[in-house]
Amino acid sequence: MIIVLQPDRDDLKAIVQRVVQVAARFEGVETRPYAHTGTGHTFTEIHLVGPTRGVPTTVFEEIPGVLRVVRVSTRYRLVGRHHETEAAGFEYNGVRFGDEGLTVIAGLCAVDTREHVDLMMSALQKEGMVTTRMGAYKPRTNPYEFQGLGRECLPYVFELAGQYGMRAVAMEVTDGRQIDEINQALADAGDPTGVILQIGTRNAQNFELLKVVGQQERFPVLFKRGMGITLEEALNACEYIASEGNPCIIFCLRGVKTHLGDPHRNLVDFAHVPLVRRKTRLPVCVDPSHSVGSVDEAVDGIPDVFHAAGQGVIAGASSVLVDFHPHREVALCDGPQALTLEQLPRFVRYVRRVRETFEESVSDTAPATAADAIDGA
Ligand code: PEP
Ligand code: MN
Repeated sequence: MIIVLQPDRDDLKAIVQRVVQVAARFEGVETRPYAHTGTGHTFTEIHLVGPTRGVPTTVFEEIPGVLRVVRVSTRYRLVGRHHETEAAGFEYNGVRFGDEGLTVIAGLCAVDTREHVDLMMSALQKEGMVTTRMGAYKPRTNPYEFQGLGRECLPYVFELAGQYGMRAVAMEVTDGRQIDEINQALADAGDPTGVILQIGTRNAQNFELLKVVGQQERFPVLFKRGMGITLEEALNACEYIASEGNPCIIFCLRGVKTHLGDPHRNLVDFAHVPLVRRKTRLPVCVDPSHSVGSVDEAVDGIPDVFHAAGQGVIAGASSVLVDFHPHREVALCDGPQALTLEQLPRFVRYVRRVRETFEESVSDTAPATAADAIDGA
């Protein structure tokens, strides 16, 4: 059971106390308060855990200052959406990840040279972009393949990020010790930028790693759906992160593994965007690069990666994670799916246009007249 308090009240502390007192009447029931920040408002919630089946909602509904009481049946209670007024998302280092707009997180799949990082970030800055992806720790299928430069590249990645005005660098971690390395490198560089910790598809059910990224609150987490797990399992995995104390999670779809997606690398699962938005309060990201796996163009001259990104954005995704490389022929990881820097402005225009169409569709509540016009023609 979740008790949601009215936001923006001066007496929130007293209301929480009253709720806790009333809950104490029920044996075995524990209370856990959480603050959830939506657009403009911070909602305080008190979660009742334990044997709540016999607890009536009315005893809490009667308390002045309680907005609503919700019985929750989902097992992902913290990341789940329990009432319509909840806005998805959070703000990090001056960037809002949420329902209000579209954030493009474009960059290198894997950092290879300082020069490529420099060229990439310079191109992003020209487009007015402040978020990027820079893989340092790469989980590779084959042990003899390039494993990423690891901490060695962090000093120049962060230095250049600061120089080019990047507010957040998305970076996969495969082990908790890498978070210490990131913290150290950021401190050494004078904290010029922020970091989003990426949980890759291969670690989507590495529960110990999920707990570790959940136990720290400094960095938000971009969680990628496991390539072969159900949506329900993926949402439970996010709950592992949130239940350890970190609610700032972006849920990323990146395609699922099945040969039915051939010749694309994965089968695009972006039809799940509205579903995740309905079931949770997590901002939803799509990764068209790892879904499609190539830069082939359709007959309309638009690359499949653009088309897939558009499918996610038109369905309501609020961020796009996408691979670019200044010289993809020499990229050490996922070069075949990397768009070129010359394609960046067009990609940004394309997804922004799709986002505008999405927003127009959301606010289009006028009765349909187009069909009448056709009938009358
Ligand atoms: C990546 O984004 O670099 C990556 C490895 O993606 P995924 O975990 O989706 O395969
Ligand atoms: Mn990759």
